[in-house]
Amino acid sequence: METYDALLASITPTAGPTRTILNPATGEAVGEAPVHDLEYLEQSVAGAVSAQPGWAALGHDARSAALLKAADAVERSAEELAQLLSREQGKPLNGPNARFEVGACAAWLRAAATIPLEAETIVDDGQTRAELHYKPIGVVGAIGPWNWPMMITVWQIAPALRMGNAAVVKPSEYTPLSVLALVNVLNEELPDGILSVVAGGREVGARLTNHPAIGKIMFTGSTATGKAIIKSSADTVKRLTLELGGNDAGIVLPDADPKAIAADLFWGAFINTGQTCAALKRLYVHEDIYDAVCDELTAVAAAMPMGNGLDEDNVLGPLQNKAQYDVVANLVNAAREAGARILLGGNPDTSQPGYFYPTTLVADIDNDNPLVAEEQFGPALPIIRYSTVDEAVEKANALDVGLGASVWSSNLPAAREVAARIQAGTVWINKHGAVDPRIPFGGAKQSGYGLEFGVEGLKALGVPQVING
Ligand code: NAD
Repeated sequence: METYDALLASITPTAGPTRTILNPATGEAVGEAPVHDLEYLEQSVAGAVSAQPGWAALGHDARSAALLKAADAVERSAEELAQLLSREQGKPLNGPNARFEVGACAAWLRAAATIPLEAETIVDDGQTRAELHYKPIGVVGAIGPWNWPMMITVWQIAPALRMGNAAVVKPSEYTPLSVLALVNVLNEELPDGILSVVAGGREVGARLTNHPAIGKIMFTGSTATGKAIIKSSADTVKRLTLELGGNDAGIVLPDADPKAIAADLFWGAFINTGQTCAALKRLYVHEDIYDAVCDELTAVAAAMPMGNGLDEDNVLGPLQNKAQYDVVANLVNAAREAGARILLGGNPDTSQPGYFYPTTLVADIDNDNPLVAEEQFGPALPIIRYSTVDEAVEKANALDVGLGASVWSSNLPAAREVAARIQAGTVWINKHGAVDPRIPFGGAKQSGYGLEFGVEGLKALGVPQVING
């Protein structure tokens, strides 16, 4: 798209019911989103069912070429997409935010297009020859959240398309415009019918999950919705990849250098203003360096500008919606009332428009405080003091979620040993949340199941077929 106005016009409905989407930083209108119903969903699914065989028949090379062109299309419209994402989601253009997210869309499309996937010879002993192939599933339903709406949509649909499936996307009700615009741009390079968006409410998501023509659901969102999807998909025995909530622990070992790790700790926790599934949400610091880490982290955090995402200076933005703002505010208030020490923030300026909650660091907090035990999904980090590594590992593993975790240390072998004891899908060392399209990503425990990214992520969008003979 040549201009932001052209991008917005391309997704503005000309008929049917609409909903006005408001900028969470200002309360101003961003645009009109369609309100698609179940009939629209049926049409989209029918279109996908009829387009999918032709797409599958193209083969990997042609599909990969189309996905590479789609990545180029994203780059051509990158600035306009970032502007819309910033207005609708709230995240700033700069920092690891809107421009970064659009860049990630192109990167993940290219990775899904280029990762090799060969048939595997499992047995070839002269008598038996067995090969493992991956066939298209058919039509994949992609249901996403509001925190990284464009990037997570690409995570779901890029491997689906590469593997020869069609995809029907159900974006979050909070961020439909970003997904509609992204898919419009991708469809500049994709054949008709194989990628569509149904911008409806939960009933549309629920119907996708029990629709007989949908073979797989890629879902990213809350654990509660994930459980509902498991149940409603049972009758049609759908394949599922579930990326659910997390409450990631970080453990700072006593030999870590507080000054050296402070900036990475900060971004591990506060990327996207804390609204990130695999963000650092509970920080365990050894008592020997507890005060030093608190001081260094406070210095870094206090210097990070928060405000309207369209202001080039800002790197932190508002919460995306009022419900999430209330979750964060209530958890910090409860921590304060329980006697925890607020090092920074905790005092929102309610006279200003927008769902801004200040960057908040909370020290001397008990491990069972709700700000530690529940997913805050916002800019408030509890810092818990520990005495022994065994104690820290036990606390890190105590919850029923396990998406990511991190260990911070100057001693890599020691950090790896601690990492191996943590129950999480990914344990990073001296970083947190560093996803990579080449490296599989998925949750342990109630953070979900199934892997995304890398060759494992491609295989998850195929039906394994053994040819034996
Ligand atoms: P949510 O579960 O409320 O909604 C996610 C999507 O599911 C939305 O599109 C919604 O309309 C749809 N939905 C709601 N009910 C449904 C139903 N019964 N059937 C089918 N679809 C339904 O989640 P959210 O509030 O948008 O996102 C925040 C949550 O997502 C957090 O818990 C966060 O940790 C998690 N998340 C996880 C990852 C990950 O990769 N693990 C990434 C981002 C966000």
